[in-house]
Amino acid sequence: MTIKTDALIVGAGPCGLFQIFELGLLGIKAEIVDSLPRVGGQCTELYPDKPIYDIPGIPLCTGQGLVDSLMEQIEPFHAGFHLGEEVMEVSPEEGGFRVVTNADKVFHAKTIFIAGGVGSFQPRRIRLPEAQELEGTQVNYRVKDPAKYQGKRVVILGGGDSAFDWAVALQEVAESVTLVHRSEQFRAAPATVVAFRKFVDRGEAELIEFGTAAALKIEGDRLVSVDIKLPEDKIRTVPADELLAFFGLAPKLGPIAEWGLDVNRKTINVDTERFETNIPGIFAIGDINSYPGKKKLILSGFHEAALAAFAAKAIIEPGKKVHLQYTTTSPIMHKRLGVPD
Ligand code: FAD
Repeated sequence: MTIKTDALIVGAGPCGLFQIFELGLLGIKAEIVDSLPRVGGQCTELYPDKPIYDIPGIPLCTGQGLVDSLMEQIEPFHAGFHLGEEVMEVSPEEGGFRVVTNADKVFHAKTIFIAGGVGSFQPRRIRLPEAQELEGTQVNYRVKDPAKYQGKRVVILGGGDSAFDWAVALQEVAESVTLVHRSEQFRAAPATVVAFRKFVDRGEAELIEFGTAAALKIEGDRLVSVDIKLPEDKIRTVPADELLAFFGLAPKLGPIAEWGLDVNRKTINVDTERFETNIPGIFAIGDINSYPGKKKLILSGFHEAALAAFAAKAIIEPGKKVHLQYTTTSPIMHKRLGVPD
């Protein structure tokens, strides 16, 4: 799949979403890519229910609430969303850049806005060499299709929401579900823990506390069991056809580091007039950029998105004057926003 665009945004956190708005006001339609299956970046991944008090004009909202409002605000601009895809390669080409995702989607973009935050969120992996061989087959960090687990003996590692949600959901289809956690304290919603414990009490599922995966037994190229290390160095072997691990997500700068940008300790150096990187036409906004006095706050990223959009407009439509207009009074902005006359 090949898509031509004036503007490609890498990262759909709050700043990437607001970049859609600032570009839209200037008449530029954007495509936006995020490696996560949903928008919102840190706000939705790390603190969806926590309050935010320092968004100008909004005395109080939650992480999820802010993202919902941003989605409503950018709706008129009909950006193209490409979620669950990581941007892997960015290379210069005639008239802009060629950008490739891990789903082999190719963008030809005149300008790029990197709003990658603290990097792309990757699942924390099982630290056993044999687990790597089975990643994507019998060892997984997300459930793509629950039908895969039909009639299987499933071992789930973790004690958070994902671990318990899937332990409950897969209990319906799997032959057996064993949930293993390193302690007896769970971070999952108490109601889900109670729901899973009910299956355990009825002997329909098993919960192993104070356990960690010590080794995977593989016969041929198939996983057959997981050795669980228990207190006092006891080992218990649990038969397994499928192993799921939900240890949370860790941000990694990832492929962004390979694009020839001026990277400074996991951030990208930009100027403070245009928020442009060392590569003309590539901008960086939000938590990922660095300049003297930078503060990693959402409101800083919003300001940066506005100035980067003006700078990009001059690249996309060279020679055309870009006037500052107010959304209050500008008929063209009203038209772009879909405000009725
Ligand atoms: P992020 O929110 O980090 O989003 C970046 C996105 O880019 C991610 O979704 C990631 O998956 C994606 N991405 C990265 N690389 C790639 C790639 N190669 N391909 C595709 N996608 C990619 N700030 C405030 O202003 N006020 C607060 O009250 C506040 N409270 C906070 C509370 C907590 C607990 C935390 C952790 C942060 C808080 N912050 C707060 C900070 C705020 O969340 C960040 O400043 C903000 O999220 C930065 O937004 P961003 O869009 O730059 O990046």
